[in-house]
Amino acid sequence: MPTPVVDYDLCIGCASCAELCPEVFEIRDEKAWVIGPDKCNTCDCEETVIICPSQAIILE
Ligand code: SF4
Repeated sequence: MPTPVVDYDLCIGCASCAELCPEVFEIRDEKAWVIGPDKCNTCDCEETVIICPSQAIILE
């Protein structure tokens, strides 16, 4: 299962990833934190990579 990783230098805190996958991403201090790296089976992490406006999310 892929694990999402956020590049904090690129993240602008738009919250799109957290809206799509609230069990995986949480916004803290205007950055997206990966709070549930093992929860990618509950949503579509591939979609967060696509919708992220700053290409800040990669799947490892
Ligand atoms: S979608 Fe991208 S820019 Fe927006 S909060 Fe998530 S990681 Fe940051």
